[in-house]
Formats: sequence, C-alpha cells, structure tokens
Amino acid sequence: MARALFIIDVQNDFTEGGALGVEGGDAVAVGVSRLLASHPERYDHVFASRDWHDGDNDNGGHFAHGTPDFVDSWPVHCVSGTPGAEYDPGLDTSDIDVHVRKGMGEPAYSIFDGITDQGGTVTEALDALEISDVDVVGIATDYCVRASALDALAAGRRVRVLTDLVAGVAPESSAAALDELRAAGAEIVPS
Ligand SMILES: [Zn+2]
Repeated sequence: MARALFIIDVQNDFTEGGALGVEGGDAVAVGVSRLLASHPERYDHVFASRDWHDGDNDNGGHFAHGTPDFVDSWPVHCVSGTPGAEYDPGLDTSDIDVHVRKGMGEPAYSIFDGITDQGGTVTEALDALEISDVDVVGIATDYCVRASALDALAAGRRVRVLTDLVAGVAPESSAAALDELRAAGAEIVPS
C-alpha cells in the first residue's frame, strides 16, 4: 500500500496578495517544497488541487454578486487561465504527479470534487495507485483542507493533517476544523 501527499489549493489567489489571500499561505508553499525536497522517499505519489472557476458566470453562486459573506460567497478568485489560479511560485511542482482541477462552474471545496488531468476522479486515482494513507497540507484549513481530509476519511484512507503546513481563513474556524477532523479519525500532527 502506498502513501500520498495532497497539496490543496496552493494558488496565487489564496496566498498573500491574492484575491482571497490568507496569512501564512506563502509559508505553506515554501514549507511544502522543503518537505518534498528533504523527504523524497516519504510519498509514493503527490496530488495537487487547484480551484479552477469559470470567468463568465458566478460558479453556482460561489462568486458574490454583492458583499461576500466569506462562508458561502466569495470575491472572484481562481478564474481558469488567470495568474491567480496558478500554483504559488513558492511551490515546487516538479514532484506533483496527479494534478486535479475543481470548481468549473460550481462551488468545490474538496479535491474529491475535482477531475484529474488524466480525466478521472480522485477516488479512481487512489484506487488505481493503491493509496492507503494520505497526508493533507495546503489552504485553507477551515474550507478546502477540511473538506478534502473529511472526504479522504470517507473514502476509507488513513489521514493525517500536517499542522505546520496548513493556513486558514480565520483562527477560530481553523481550530474548529482541526478538532472536527481529529474527531472524525484524522491524525493532527506536525510534518
Ligand atoms: Zn472557489
């Protein structure tokens, strides 16, 4: 059985200076690159997701028409083909072997809502690669990291969330998300 790293949404719009930049996002990008460089043997496969929204519609109400509530509606972010949707330049993408895009015309918080560049689902890729264990890092702890880790647990995998390699929108909801994930069976540990 194999171990995978899930790198969730380490994209320019979610790091400092982006449309929805979270504090600590740049540090996550650099930290994940450092982890992969210093422990090349730790992961058999590296998955990375990108929020990848349409630019000509509100993506199922995901883009706010007025003031965003930052829970269900958000400023325009991660429009496909724009610099904001690209991986943060601090993230070394050379080890990523499964690229996943999600949110085309709809809200999509979990990597499991996406499609791999090979055209399949994440569950299909996990099964094909015989992945039993998943470590989750990225942005944002309280939204897409949370949803992706919960779905990995629901898919029957052993899940760890690496606390020094995640960044959240807000401290309270991020702490609550980690508590929820721990209660759901994830290990909450440093890298
Ligand atoms: Zn989005």
